[in-house]
Amino acid sequence: MSASAQGFRRASRISAIQLSEIAQLSERAAALRAAGKDVVALSTGEPDFPTPPHVVEAAHQAALAGQTGYTATLGTPALRAAIAAEAGVSPAEVIVSTGAKQVLANAMLASLDPGDEVIMPAPYWTSYSDIVAMAGGSPVVVPCDMAQGFKLTPGQLQAAITPRSRWVMLNAPSNPSGAIYTPAEQAALAEVLRAHPQVMVLVDEIYAHLSYQPFTSFAEAAPDLKDRMLIVNGVSKAYAMTGWRIGWGIGPADMIRAMGAVQGQVTSGACSVSQAAALAALTGDQALLITRLEEMRQRRDRVVAALNAIEGIRCPAPDGAFYVFPDIRGAMAKGGFDTDADFCAALLDQQGLAIVPGRAFGLPGHARLSFAYAKEEIEAGLARIAAFVAAF
Ligand code: PMP
Repeated sequence: MSASAQGFRRASRISAIQLSEIAQLSERAAALRAAGKDVVALSTGEPDFPTPPHVVEAAHQAALAGQTGYTATLGTPALRAAIAAEAGVSPAEVIVSTGAKQVLANAMLASLDPGDEVIMPAPYWTSYSDIVAMAGGSPVVVPCDMAQGFKLTPGQLQAAITPRSRWVMLNAPSNPSGAIYTPAEQAALAEVLRAHPQVMVLVDEIYAHLSYQPFTSFAEAAPDLKDRMLIVNGVSKAYAMTGWRIGWGIGPADMIRAMGAVQGQVTSGACSVSQAAALAALTGDQALLITRLEEMRQRRDRVVAALNAIEGIRCPAPDGAFYVFPDIRGAMAKGGFDTDADFCAALLDQQGLAIVPGRAFGLPGHARLSFAYAKEEIEAGLARIAAFVAAF
């Protein structure tokens, strides 16, 4: 018996799961910085704005008022009621969790048996496939390239469904592509799902407030699918509250109860003070959302124009969120790179710019740049890519 067999051994459930490519990149960038290198990172999905002061104040007051104990497992009555009121559902159809990420994990742990399939259009947010795998499911990745706007077509959805399909995971506005489904596109996907009642639909709308085009929730587009639909949202992106760790799910009460059973054994419920902060964010002044969206739109336009000016890079303008996901295959070929990961690694080593290769999102040949950064950093990053490609 080898020594390691007597000590720690990974469960087969997580044998294929590594630190995410985004986290690995951030670590490499931090190591280069520590070694004295000048590094610019456009790699993470975190607003550079601070949490609004009235939200911080609400948390402060909640803590002073003694809201420091465990809350109800599914969330404080006040926060669940506010979320339910906004969505037009009852509080029993709402669960508050430690970030939208935990909502996703709760849903998968509560619903998947080994071998159950989860359909995910690529590019998808990196964590989707790992969360599904961790819960014992099998991700079924459907490539949706730039020519189709990075969106799943009804034909692709139909072709991906098998008797083992349990979920299709949609995300709009998308991380990383920014794509938003139009009402007609949503209706066409819903039509396919109607014929397959065993398939549930998870719709991650965490970037809904960051839409540069009209945005319609899937819940409005297909109200008849409500009994098998989970809408995921949270305060991280819209209100610049990533560290507070508050997200929520809206779904049928039996699904929410099952997710609550998981959550009760994993975290007991979300942080009390953070829930008070999230309530203040949702019920307070929303004017900041508009000014921040305008700021993001300007950054988006600048980044798209600058990238399209680089030979070998083709960058569509995203409809929402704060990422661009350009096709870099022309530049890769010019520089002699076989993979997007090699391209991004060389970009970091030679120019000190961290961006994330498309393969982390299930769609190679692309790269994701976040523009949730200060203008100076964005400009520095754009100059570095231009210099990198010009040197080929
Ligand atoms: N969904 C998507 C599409 C995301 O991009 C993220 C954050 N990167 C999350 C969910 C998770 O957000 P949080 O856990 O901070 O609420």
